Amino acid sequence: MTAATAERAGVLNRLLDAEQERFRALHPRSAAAWQEGRQHYLYGGPSHWMRRWAGGFPVYAEEAQGAHIRDIDGRDYVDFCLGDTGGMCGHAPEAVTEAALAQLKRGATMMLPTEDSVWVGAELSRRFGPKYWTLTTSATDANRAAIRISRMITGRRKVLVFSGCYHGGVEEAHVEIRDGRVGLRNMIHPNGIDHDAVSRVVEFNDVAGLEAALAHGDVACVLTEPLMTNFGMIPVDPGFHRALRDLTRRAGTVLIIDETHTLSCGPGGYTESHGLEPDIFVAGKAIAGGIPAGVFGLAHEIAERLWKIVPHVNPRERQSAHLGFGGTLAGNALTVATMRAVLEKVLTSANYERMIGTATWLAQEARRLIAAAGLPWHVTQIGARAEIMFMPQPPRSGADVIAGRQPDLETLLHAFYINEGILVTPFHTMLLMCPATSARDVDKHTAVLAQFIDLLRGAGA
Ligand code: PMP
Repeated sequence: MTAATAERAGVLNRLLDAEQERFRALHPRSAAAWQEGRQHYLYGGPSHWMRRWAGGFPVYAEEAQGAHIRDIDGRDYVDFCLGDTGGMCGHAPEAVTEAALAQLKRGATMMLPTEDSVWVGAELSRRFGPKYWTLTTSATDANRAAIRISRMITGRRKVLVFSGCYHGGVEEAHVEIRDGRVGLRNMIHPNGIDHDAVSRVVEFNDVAGLEAALAHGDVACVLTEPLMTNFGMIPVDPGFHRALRDLTRRAGTVLIIDETHTLSCGPGGYTESHGLEPDIFVAGKAIAGGIPAGVFGLAHEIAERLWKIVPHVNPRERQSAHLGFGGTLAGNALTVATMRAVLEKVLTSANYERMIGTATWLAQEARRLIAAAGLPWHVTQIGARAEIMFMPQPPRSGADVIAGRQPDLETLLHAFYINEGILVTPFHTMLLMCPATSARDVDKHTAVLAQFIDLLRGAGA
């Protein structure tokens, strides 16, 4: 570390101390709740995802409506985190709330289909392309099922992912390339999985690397987002998807496109807007408006191959196949009713247009501030999502992110954001719009980002 970098790190640390101090002073009730929560929860809150907020502990939510959340200390936030995409429909959207209430009164879970499911199945095909669908309770579950099917129909074990990816609690994907070596994704410790046997990892946008990794003929599936959203946004190179599709076809490898986050690109995800041809399509999070849900859809040819191994069941022959795709509550009446409300009334073309317009405005304003201050940062915007990264150019791979990322600056920005009434996902600076996100909300973000830049300048950082 040079003397200048050490000095800068010291300044950022002091600024973060001050922001965390301010955060504690502003949030006495959340602080007390967190202290109590830590008595009973393994990681302080009901989910370990709730613990990494930059203030030092999470704010406890009192109520959320549209693009706003109010916490138990009475403070209001413009919510660009939106439950890390689960809330992309906006909080408490009327259509979903009404559908949920109506269905709850008629029964939530019966292990029986409802008529709504017929509409939902047809709509999933119309939007996203694949012919045959299954609902799960999470995107993780949908990815697990997609991997299982890939292995069953190819007879191969390996799952290929791109470094810096995240696809949920799917162990095969918990690998990355760091310092040129394949290892476990940071903070995920030895997990009993023989990753040499089941995982392969390549840098995103690396066609030659992908070709070499598939050449062994032992990869059951490639599991990827259309562009990477979980390690800062990593845009996809022109031509990469064409190469990916050609190479996977040639290698007899199933291509799984995980659109859990990129559903923010448009009504049919990135797949529809860019004409991708996945063998298996996966989505989750926002797809049922916040009620836990995932979906996976199979291309006709993949379904036929699966049916050869596990045919449709004939109860008279007492057949049963414990496929275990998703959980017992998957596709239940409540999930299906809310999914219908989302697809019919919330994630509509008109709302996407609005959300993408809002994201474009936010990105333009952020770029204007960054350029005016001459900062070596950039903003990526794809669909309804924007990302501010503290490096001059968008990364092309996980390696670029590792080389260029400034985690201390990210944490400081996030703490400052919270204190000024803005929430972003705690893992990187990703800002997502919902239909209710307004121009005023964006203007607030612009004003707060401008203040943050002033803070840094004033501190000489
Ligand atoms: N796929 C992607 C691309 C994701 O970003 C995530 C979660 N961040 C998942 C799958 C898993 O979703 P869940 O945790 O809801 O199962």
